[in-house]
Amino acid sequence: HVFFSSLFPHFSLGMGSPTRVHLPALRLFSPHPLYMMKLGRVRNIVVVAGAGISTASGIPDFRTPGTGLYANLAKYDIPYPVAILNINYFSDNPHPFFSLAKELYPGHHRPNYVHYFIRMLHQKGLLLRMYTQNIDGLEKLCGIPDDKLVEAHGSFATAACHLCYTPYPAEEAKQAIMNGNVPICTFCAGAVKPNVVVFGEDLPEKYFQHAEDFPKADLLMIMGKSLTSCLILKVFLLCGRSSPSPAW
Ligand SMILES: [Zn+2]
Repeated sequence: HVFFSSLFPHFSLGMGSPTRVHLPALRLFSPHPLYMMKLGRVRNIVVVAGAGISTASGIPDFRTPGTGLYANLAKYDIPYPVAILNINYFSDNPHPFFSLAKELYPGHHRPNYVHYFIRMLHQKGLLLRMYTQNIDGLEKLCGIPDDKLVEAHGSFATAACHLCYTPYPAEEAKQAIMNGNVPICTFCAGAVKPNVVVFGEDLPEKYFQHAEDFPKADLLMIMGKSLTSCLILKVFLLCGRSSPSPAW
């Protein structure tokens, strides 16, 4: 089994300019993962991806000073920064979230070389699963199939009432939000929300359906995210894998 991790920020695929790919960082680990792949000993790759893989597509991440989402929340008229992503605050006033959602809805951005690299892993039959924390939909757009993808923070592809979870047509919800209206649940009259996960909500069911992925993986690629905030990895560490030990 080959195991490499802690590549962020040294292995910064997707961070900064499209030419900034630090493959030498891979050599921190021995034997070299690419060598192991060449030998055919790597067959099940799990990719864990964060906001950094989409910055090369022009999508701001959350925490980058100056350009990150958190640094630009003043215009949304909210009492405290994370209110915009809090389900209780959404319940009281969905408009700030919808203002943000207008900007985040997929359709304005294209996948970049990182997304296509992961699709290539799939085409070579090496991708066991991709876990992404991104809600930009670029993984699907570049052709990574649904059964290989876990959108851990949900997506804009579906919508539902935030109170009773009654599904609502995603396209109608989008049109309402784009027009500055609040889509209303036909069952309980609660506000309908695109199924992106905000603070205070459970992760999507699909996130829990592949518990065997991490024990089965012989290569874990972590891209575009800080390990300090990686819930996916915490779950992985809890899943009881005994060998080998993680390298971070
Ligand atoms: Zn409802």
